[in-house]
Amino acid sequence: MLRQHDPLRESMERAFMGFQALRGVVVAPRVKCSVWRFNVVDDDGLCEDCEKYHGDVYELDDPADLLGMFEYGEFVDDDAFLPNVHPNCRCIIMKEEEVLFGEVSEGE
Ligand SMILES: [Zn+2]
Repeated sequence: MLRQHDPLRESMERAFMGFQALRGVVVAPRVKCSVWRFNVVDDDGLCEDCEKYHGDVYELDDPADLLGMFEYGEFVDDDAFLPNVHPNCRCIIMKEEEVLFGEVSEGE
């Protein structure tokens, strides 16, 4: 039986292999630490208790360390943490950047 040339299938396979290679690059970087900043919500309900924290920057090996620093804190997203310093606290700690080990080279 004659093997049919199937350009659509070939292009899909190429795309898939490219995707696999891309995934390897995306997964490879290792996060050395991440930088988080305390932001007090400064409107009608300003948290006076939290003013002293405003602008504080935390450099963390593991974001979960925030849970140890703020007993009632909780993560609401990968890059957002509510410290819940006191009841009705509306402050938020946002991740500003991640520091990676070394440089990521393509195709590895
Ligand atoms: Zn607060």
